[in-house]
Amino acid sequence: MIQRVAVVGAGTMGAGIAQLCAQAGFSVKVHDPLPAALAALPGRLKRSFDAAVLKGKLSTQQAERAFHSISAVPEIADLAGADLVIEAAPEDLALKQDLFEKLSGICPDALLATNTSSLSVAEIMKKAQSPERTLGVHFFNPPVAMKLVEMIRTEATAPEAFQAAWEFLLMGLRRTPVDVKDVPGFIVNRVMRPYYVTAQRMVSSRTSCAAVDESCRSIGGVPMGPFELMDLIGLDTNLAITKAIYEALGRPERFAPSALQEKLVSAGELGRKTGKGFYLYADGKIIGENPSATAALPQGADRPAKDIWSNLAGAIILEAERLVSEGTAGAHDIDTAIKLAMNFPKGPFEWQK
Ligand code: NAD
Repeated sequence: MIQRVAVVGAGTMGAGIAQLCAQAGFSVKVHDPLPAALAALPGRLKRSFDAAVLKGKLSTQQAERAFHSISAVPEIADLAGADLVIEAAPEDLALKQDLFEKLSGICPDALLATNTSSLSVAEIMKKAQSPERTLGVHFFNPPVAMKLVEMIRTEATAPEAFQAAWEFLLMGLRRTPVDVKDVPGFIVNRVMRPYYVTAQRMVSSRTSCAAVDESCRSIGGVPMGPFELMDLIGLDTNLAITKAIYEALGRPERFAPSALQEKLVSAGELGRKTGKGFYLYADGKIIGENPSATAALPQGADRPAKDIWSNLAGAIILEAERLVSEGTAGAHDIDTAIKLAMNFPKGPFEWQK
């Protein structure tokens, strides 16, 4: 039975996961070795709880109670006694391996989970004692608002450990867990890669980024097309994920990073955050396509809107089918993950019905 939760790392995800657990009634200890990060935690949490009260998601008393059930601890040894440890430290393999080597000794009975987005969970847990109680729990940002959690089982994860973590997420935190094996990109980042990579291969002098985005919205019914979404995520962050998955899968041609995106990233044109990406922005709004992106487009003919969406959807469906045939994840979990993570009205297997 999970009652005491430890969170490692007090950054964006650690603070969000701590808030989510505290709101659900769990007692939470947060460890961060950086004094500044630990000192900033109460203020960060306070702002977030205040926002939840303002939005009517929590009463003032609920927010107060949850806020006081989170304690910040400067020493990792202070996490002793936890039933579940969720690690949200920087995305660095050696750092995470060292953490789990220590944590597995400090918390000998706890479930040990990493929130990694792109590393192999089995590799992260390589130095942990008793790997059967290790797994991945990949929350999405912000954890309080995003219902989806990808639960990653390695070859070593014991079914009972997976089940206990599953029940905690489902019943304790009221999230929607999906079951996935330890593969690069898990479900969402892997299945959605063609949305970004294939879309960039489609644009030409006559089929613009705007035409692709418009086709996805009007025909696919999705909230954002691939180019506006890449601009929102950050072209650098999106490219780093593509490269990590491309390398980890042995460089399959279908995931080869786009030269156009590499060029924009090298030029510091990273999307909304820099005011320039595939589009130009003023006051946070698109004001046109970025000429340095369009100038680099190859020559080519117009593509009808229907073809654009059906090509992109087809590439996503193929990737989703690959995951199912590899035994990495089930069709229902893939549909659930894509709908919740992307806010799509349907998942890839539902598009075919
Ligand atoms: P972040 O940089 O906001 O926070 C990381 C925190 O870890 C910092 O407070 C830092 O002081 C702390 N830290 C540094 N060294 C540490 C150590 N040795 N032990 C414990 N804590 C240490 O990063 P983030 O965005 O919260 O990401 C954390 C993890 O979550 C990464 O693995 C990332 O891939 C994953 N993730 C991030 C997102 C996202 O959107 N930000 C989404 C899903 C998963």
